[in-house]
Amino acid sequence: MSSQEQSAGTTTAQRHEPDVVVVGAGTAGCYAAATVARAGYDVIVVERKSETEAGHIACGDALKGASDFPDAIPKSQLEPAITNTAVDHGRFEIPQEDTVLEIPVPGELAVIDRWEYGRRLIEGAEDAGVEFHYDTVVQDVTQDADGRVTGVTAIQRGEPRTYDAAAVIDAAGSLSVLQDFVDFTDSTFDTNVTFQHFCSAYREIVHVDEPVEWSDALVFKPTERAAGYLWYFPRTETEINAGLGFQMTEEPMKLVDDLKRDLETRAEFDGADVEDKLGAALPTRRPYDSAVHPGYVAVGDAAGHVNPTTGGGIAGAAYAGQYAAEAIVDSLGNGGPTEDALWEYNQRVMDHFGARYAALDVYNILSTAVDVDDLMGLLAAMPGEKLAEALYSGSADIGLKLKLEALLKSRGHWATIWNLYQTKRTADALLAHYEQYPDSPDALPAWQDRRDELMEDVYETTGADPKY
Ligand SMILES: Cc1cc2nc3c(=O)[nH]c(=O)nc-3n(C[C@H](O)[C@H](O)[C@H](O)COP(=O)(O)OP(=O)(O)OC[C@H]3O[C@@H](n4cnc5c(N)ncnc54)[C@H](O)[C@@H]3O)c2cc1C
Repeated sequence: MSSQEQSAGTTTAQRHEPDVVVVGAGTAGCYAAATVARAGYDVIVVERKSETEAGHIACGDALKGASDFPDAIPKSQLEPAITNTAVDHGRFEIPQEDTVLEIPVPGELAVIDRWEYGRRLIEGAEDAGVEFHYDTVVQDVTQDADGRVTGVTAIQRGEPRTYDAAAVIDAAGSLSVLQDFVDFTDSTFDTNVTFQHFCSAYREIVHVDEPVEWSDALVFKPTERAAGYLWYFPRTETEINAGLGFQMTEEPMKLVDDLKRDLETRAEFDGADVEDKLGAALPTRRPYDSAVHPGYVAVGDAAGHVNPTTGGGIAGAAYAGQYAAEAIVDSLGNGGPTEDALWEYNQRVMDHFGARYAALDVYNILSTAVDVDDLMGLLAAMPGEKLAEALYSGSADIGLKLKLEALLKSRGHWATIWNLYQTKRTADALLAHYEQYPDSPDALPAWQDRRDELMEDVYETTGADPKY
């Protein structure tokens, strides 16, 4: 690695030349950088926040499947940030039906202190040999005459900085500004992204005097309007992450006021203190069809790697970081990060979770088209375990007996059931198609054409407006 002062007219830009530059010190960026460093390459993470604020990220603090996370950052490093391992189910409050559903959540589940977790991720990456540059805001992406990305330029506390690297990892989160700077004309990189593919969310950390009764549950409650929900996630018995979000296809909600109104209706929050308030956007869409361009890879929120029905994105970000870094490392000793060389990253993402998330997005699309009361009534009538399975796997088989029981309980919602049944058929067809994700960039357009045909079927079945 080398750093040098370089004069350009009257300004002097400090130049850095790591093998890889990562933009963003969140989950995706830390896992990606640690993986590159452990392979013996020089890597710098550029982060716009200060060293103190880095890792302070708006989140519901629910963590799923952490024991299987990549080991570029050892799990023991993150354990102290895990504050509640007693949570084992979802508690769905359905005021419209005066019902509470307790639904088991498959797999390992925990609630974390997100800021502490963020700091520990950064420490773990530093231990692996990563260098962090804080207070450094990326302002542009550089490309050569062939369109290959060659680095980024940034401002650090008013001073210009240049980072030249063999590869740039875009881990800059939701609505990553880097993607506005890159000319993607000659690659497959997915540019079909609009604000309607995002959810706007807000959360507070609330302290209560008495332990809450539901400290072993993640509490969900639909917002008064469709396509949004409130959550209450217990970090401990007396420290609660309380938040809400809505799909940006909807009329904007007043997030702070709506949360306050709900908190006021709950006796357990009488006299509570609010410690911290944060909001952000998160992608609730299918993963990018392709997140690679010569010299450039997008990971985590920057590539739509979030479960679009739960909003859980930490796990996707961790794995995407690892897979992107491994593809780059493989390419560095072997002809460089061309689009072909990076393609295995797209394949691994689709294979691990991308296909599932794309199928789950179909239910998101459905939720924008059906009546919320009808959907809640139906939810209340469904068998809980099967619902949990559907929520996480993207598909569920309901046995005949359960089907009949659910049908009897759900009289009055039969039109919605039929709609849901047909929607499941389209989601299953989409999942099967994503399982045939192409093994080279050349085959992507034909695969996209067939996928778009399947999406036509989704819109026709759900009655929803086209999303992509
Ligand atoms: C309110 C809310 C609640 C959520 N709840 C959960 C939950 O309970 N469980 C869960 O698993 N997921 C949850 N998510 C989603 C989860 O937080 C994200 O999916 C995850 O943090 C994505 O990680 P990331 O590394 O891709 O991006 P981020 O964590 O957003 O990191 C991006 C980093 O890039 C930096 N950056 C951005 N632009 C620049 C720039 N120009 N120059 C330099 N640095 C830059 C940012 O400062 C930031 O540090 C929630 C999201 C929100 C908004």
